[in-house]
Amino acid sequence: MASNNSVAEEGGDPGTAQQVSLKEFRSAGRGFWSHIPDADWNDYRWQLKNRVTTLEQLQRLLPTLTPEEEAGTRLANTKLSLAITPYFFNLIDPSDENCPIRRQVIPRIEETNIASWEMSDPCGEDAHSPVRGLVHRYPDRVLFLVTDRCASYCRYCTRSRLVSNAAGYDFHPEFDKQIEYIRNHPEIRDVLLSGGDPLLLGDDKLESLLSRLRAIPHVEFLRIGTRIPIFLPQRITPKLCAMLKQYHPLFISVHSNHPRELTTEVRDALGRLADAGIPLGNQSVLLKHVNDDPVVLRSLMQKLLMCRVRPYYLYQCDLIAGSAHLRTSVRRGLEIMEKLRGHTTGYAVPQYVIDAPGGGGKVPINPGYVLSHNSDRVVIRNFEGKVFEYPEAADGTPLASPVNRIEEPELV
Ligand code: SF4
Repeated sequence: MASNNSVAEEGGDPGTAQQVSLKEFRSAGRGFWSHIPDADWNDYRWQLKNRVTTLEQLQRLLPTLTPEEEAGTRLANTKLSLAITPYFFNLIDPSDENCPIRRQVIPRIEETNIASWEMSDPCGEDAHSPVRGLVHRYPDRVLFLVTDRCASYCRYCTRSRLVSNAAGYDFHPEFDKQIEYIRNHPEIRDVLLSGGDPLLLGDDKLESLLSRLRAIPHVEFLRIGTRIPIFLPQRITPKLCAMLKQYHPLFISVHSNHPRELTTEVRDALGRLADAGIPLGNQSVLLKHVNDDPVVLRSLMQKLLMCRVRPYYLYQCDLIAGSAHLRTSVRRGLEIMEKLRGHTTGYAVPQYVIDAPGGGGKVPINPGYVLSHNSDRVVIRNFEGKVFEYPEAADGTPLASPVNRIEEPELV
């Protein structure tokens, strides 16, 4: 099976050789691009210009390209484009057809299998857009889409209806209207810039946007959602960091799914952002044969902390059209969460969520730790399965004397 999944499925002793290996920081190296001068390789513009975008390039660089991948790539330009930065391409193990990095970015023909419950807009964003490019789903915050482009394209992208424009969505943000809406809605205290990837905007354009938002008195807090530090760490320049730090409080959520994505280059880029005083969180998507394994996910979460990034959300993969081959079950997600909570640092445990299909927002999903809530106690279990009681009257007041016996738990 996949190189990430050759671990013992259960248990996940933190001392296993596998976990130690997953947590090592390695450089992505130069791979097929060893002849490129350092100045080019380390220049994000060069990386963007030289992305892998065609079937011919894939055939040349990846001799193990499968018929499913080849067929998927032929159709990518009608659904979600193919693009992979040379830096990120080097993380693919060419000898492993099930490489977890490869599964995330190389199209497969299974993307054309569309179930009746799958959607092009699974989070119902378009239905909650009062202005093009602005999603106002929750009471006090908005999602501000700034571009439809990314450094590389993830095959499970929730926003693939618009990202890369392969499906013809023709997204054109209208910053003036988006900002005007925020200015006219004093309840909006939190703006999340996303896309596409906001860090693909040039420094000046991004700064203009941040400064205009910062000038709105009721906007307390700015956030950027980006996968650039993972796909293109060269973009995290000292100049960009110096600009961003002027707009605090500014948080950044990165998106990493597998510990092999956390290279020395990524660790250094995240360190530059952290040194600029930017609190960093991570969002992961639970993906079949990529990271649906407790050892892999625990390694990722622990490694993120070593990069000064707090794991934030673990998403159940949205019901995006053509993503069944990448989705894993909620049951599996809960099993994995059981193996994180209590088994490692609380900071390393993300909140597992389902973005309710159709636009219901994020719903937290937790293993059942409350066994029953009776008239005089709450019966709970810990991460080892041991049962405990917390005395409490029905109205929520603490009881004077401890409860001595454990009743059969009632299902809650
Ligand atoms: S980086 Fe984000 S927006 Fe871009 S393709 Fe990946 S998931 Fe979609």
